[in-house]
Amino acid sequence: MEVDVAKNLNEVLGNLPQGVHLVAISKYHPNEYIEAAYAAGQRVFGESREQELREKVQLLPEDIRWHFIGHLQSNKVKYIAPYISMIEAVDSVKLLKEINKQAAKNSRVIDVLLELHIAEEETKYGFSFDACRNMLRDGEWKQMQNIRICGLMMMASNVDDESQIAEEMNMAADFFDELKRDYFADADYFCERSWGMSHDYRIAVKCRSTMVRVGSLIFGPRVY
Ligand SMILES: *Cc1c(COP(=O)(O)O)cnc(C)c1O
Repeated sequence: MEVDVAKNLNEVLGNLPQGVHLVAISKYHPNEYIEAAYAAGQRVFGESREQELREKVQLLPEDIRWHFIGHLQSNKVKYIAPYISMIEAVDSVKLLKEINKQAAKNSRVIDVLLELHIAEEETKYGFSFDACRNMLRDGEWKQMQNIRICGLMMMASNVDDESQIAEEMNMAADFFDELKRDYFADADYFCERSWGMSHDYRIAVKCRSTMVRVGSLIFGPRVY
């Protein structure tokens, strides 16, 4: 292994204030890299492709908590519903319904985050603020007994301008407060703000992130 995973992991962890969790993003990285992070104590990992995740789950330790961080097609939910710990990028009520249905089939409650689209790139997924407000106001989600909306997730624009990144993250944090007040005031579990990746997690922790998703800084560049 050319990458010192344990050293990189501990460097990132050393930069996280108390209360900020690390999701180690292991997509495209081999199992031995994940095992190295596991041996160093990491238990939460994130993957973005269902097939790859399925293969990894079969071979890696059972107490790993897997987060699905990518764009998830409704027809793939059934494959991850038995074991997934959190689905981070819910971007439609249709997907929410399917997660609820598959979670019920597995007699479990699945934790999810709502993905916001704030970044300037068209290619990114997620709810606009208004679409998210409308979805929550509509109220259909309140009937879904097998999901738990635990907070928000977003990706900032892929730019060098740190003030723009911080501005986008702060907008997401303010929006979190609005939703907390309007819909989740009594829900302790609505507490997660998932933002910050390798290049911007240090900004994210200043912008009220509770959960950073760091991959390449720990595992090295991805080989696609
Ligand atoms: C790949 C990915 C990350 C991690 O990216 P790095 O730059 O490798 O840290 C974080 N979040 C999402 C949604 C991703 O797809």
